[in-house]
Amino acid sequence: MIKIFADKLLPVMLVLLSLPLFFCGNAGAAENQNALPRVVVLAVGGTIAGSGDTAARTTEYKAGVLPVSQIIKSVPGINKIAVVTGEQIANIDSAHMTNEIMLKLARRINALLKDNQADGIVVTHGTDTLEETAYFLNLVIRSDRPVVLTGSMRPATALSADGQLNLYNAVVLAASYEARGKGVLVAINEKIHGARDVTKTHTTNVDTFRSPESGSLGFILNGEVHFLNATVKRHTAGSEFSTETIRKLPRVDILYGHANDSGDLAEASLKAGARGIVIAGAGDGGIFPETYAALKKARKKGVIIVRSTHVGSGYVAPCADDEKDEFLTSQTLNPQKARILLMLALTKTKNLKLIRRMFSEY
Ligand code: ASP
Repeated sequence: MIKIFADKLLPVMLVLLSLPLFFCGNAGAAENQNALPRVVVLAVGGTIAGSGDTAARTTEYKAGVLPVSQIIKSVPGINKIAVVTGEQIANIDSAHMTNEIMLKLARRINALLKDNQADGIVVTHGTDTLEETAYFLNLVIRSDRPVVLTGSMRPATALSADGQLNLYNAVVLAASYEARGKGVLVAINEKIHGARDVTKTHTTNVDTFRSPESGSLGFILNGEVHFLNATVKRHTAGSEFSTETIRKLPRVDILYGHANDSGDLAEASLKAGARGIVIAGAGDGGIFPETYAALKKARKKGVIIVRSTHVGSGYVAPCADDEKDEFLTSQTLNPQKARILLMLALTKTKNLKLIRRMFSEY
């Protein structure tokens, strides 16, 4: 009996016992009960890395000053949530963000996740263009692992600075299992927002980020993640866009529509070589007649025209003139996000039907 056990049953049992190890071997440290998840903080700058002269000043400081190591070190308890390491991608005021920096950031995130170097990523970013970078990453990151952007409205030197808690919560979210597969997220002022819908709505207040049409996705409180919603739009691992094939993003301009407008800026855009123009129209994407005529001319030269709105929320409804003049609408994307999607769409096609499909799906 003992011999049968040793010869036949024991090897089978050893194989069965080793199966879980085999299946877990490829997974990140988050699945290993004994190890903390690994979160890499990629710093781009912004007020969260800013420094001012006096504690009472919450404007007139310099954004993008402190190095990532110092920002991480300033957050008590951060290393109890995850093994947190940092990399400096840039250190700028995010109003100075470029397509090149966005591409560099996206490529680094894709490499870290593909090589299983991180279970989650946090990007510290200025709040001014955070929504644009977040949406760009939402469309080009090819992974289900959490990618979370955060920033702050007050520099570290100010009274009631919000950066420490925002970074703490972003790391909690990036290290969490719940955040997987939800698209690129923004963790700020205790709320979780989806990259597609989030937008900055106040120039200076800490409660500035909102998702006007969809609402926030959840919140983080006392180091715990609570999801309430999820986006139904395509993103990250389910996206058709890839940074691997892009060398340079095509030029897409945004024009701001207003009363007594002219066609001059649309003509200048065309002359400057724009391959797409987003018009931030009035109301439901309304456009001044001379501007409309100049946009029609640009369309005839092959430029893709997208009607959006400067209202701040709502759906821009397609109309019969769009069909006739070959204009598209941004649906519920604001002008700055419509620019991001149109740039990526133009890396794939100039076909109007295909680009219209992309505006519905993403
Ligand atoms: N100007 C800053 C930036 O976007 C504002 C901020 O981060 O809150 O970099």
